[in-house]
Amino acid sequence: MNHDNCFYCTDEYKDYMKEVAILEHSRVYLNNEQEYPGRCYVVLDIHQTELFQMDDDKLAGYMKDVAKVAQAIQHAFSPDKINYAVYGDIDSHIHFHIVPKTKSGKLWGWPFELTGEEGKKKFLTEEQYQQIINRIRAYL
Ligand SMILES: [Zn+2]
Repeated sequence: MNHDNCFYCTDEYKDYMKEVAILEHSRVYLNNEQEYPGRCYVVLDIHQTELFQMDDDKLAGYMKDVAKVAQAIQHAFSPDKINYAVYGDIDSHIHFHIVPKTKSGKLWGWPFELTGEEGKKKFLTEEQYQQIINRIRAYL
């Protein structure tokens, strides 16, 4: 996979997420599937596929963006814990899943489900998405 057919470098991602913010080293998106309220992606602003490909300044800057988004989600939704997930088998462009979890919520103590069970995915109205985005933006 390269820049030309990358999920995050083309417009393909736009069917699955909504823009929250552009940060210094990343783009931030709200996942359309909101079983974990406030779940976001932090997508590196250049096409690289492994953390070790970045120089120290880029890596530190990107990780600061990841932490900033996690902190904003913490302030906005007060979860019991933020989970961070980085996979990339299919869409290898570096991106963190930022997943707020609660002790009373789904899969506490276990890795969250990346896409949710078919038929149980939680989608919202455009107005509800915008309310969540505004709550997160207020803390970025
Ligand atoms: Zn890419």
